[in-house]
Amino acid sequence: MIDIENIVTEIAEEMRAHKDRGTVASYIPPLACVPDSKFGVAVVMADGTIHSAGDADEAFSIQSISKVFALTLALGAVGDQLWNRVGREPSGTPFNSIVQLETEHGIPRNPFINAGAIVLCDVLLGRHQPREAIGQMLRFVRTLSGDDAIAIDETVAGGEQDTGFRNRALANYMRAFGNIHAPVERVLGTYFHFCALAMSCRQLALAGRFLMDGGRVDGHSIVTASRARRINALMMSCGHYDNSGDFAFRVGLPGKSGVGGGILSVVPGVASIAVWSPGLNPSGNSQLGTLALERLVQRTGWSVFEPR
Ligand code: GLN
Repeated sequence: MIDIENIVTEIAEEMRAHKDRGTVASYIPPLACVPDSKFGVAVVMADGTIHSAGDADEAFSIQSISKVFALTLALGAVGDQLWNRVGREPSGTPFNSIVQLETEHGIPRNPFINAGAIVLCDVLLGRHQPREAIGQMLRFVRTLSGDDAIAIDETVAGGEQDTGFRNRALANYMRAFGNIHAPVERVLGTYFHFCALAMSCRQLALAGRFLMDGGRVDGHSIVTASRARRINALMMSCGHYDNSGDFAFRVGLPGKSGVGGGILSVVPGVASIAVWSPGLNPSGNSQLGTLALERLVQRTGWSVFEPR
């Protein structure tokens, strides 16, 4: 019998004491103020029990983890037609890279790099104004988590508006290929607000339950089982940018990171896990978050590549 409560407590203690913590993102100014001493972990089990340790109840900027929720909403809006505008292959390039867009005619490699998520936002704006799309996202994560306290950090959204020149370049470049339809500033305003969602590890792990449980939460269907399976597949192959292969090698679970230092990871049928430590590795993924997940999987045997 796995003592998950004890394992998360132990891991939080080990991470607190760990010296090499990575580097906090500073290109979005409000993120640079978050102390690198933070560490949180929350594990929601299939039966609903929650095990957490460290700063698991402190909200942080979920950043690119929002791409998982944006993908779910965009698939809900247009279904498999989405794949005419976004690919499903790992990019092998940094999250904000523009290089592949030229040879690949403005079609981003996958929905979990910035260019891909900007297309997701454009898809959602096919039917809505930015304010409505942002409201839809907020309602969605609140419903998934069962927590109406989740909010968007306007300071972070503003910081991204002020400094998001690469994202503007990506959006304009894709617009030149006809793969962005709405005005670029509206698409980016939506994208920046999604990235600026503030959630705790507990809220995030709760929001990931539908991916653990074949698309369902508390018996309600959020997406079909096959869609949940496919989202998990994309998280495994593309959720950590040019580090996705290494994450699969070390952790062996579907996972999505954000430059706020969070990672949402799913053990299908078993658990939904969120970790947070703001220091990043050179690919922009949480250094200690990855190490914590690696140790969790070693101690539980939860990798999808191990027999259960
Ligand atoms: N908001 C960030 C950006 O657009 C998201 C990147 C990330 O979390 N990897 O650069």
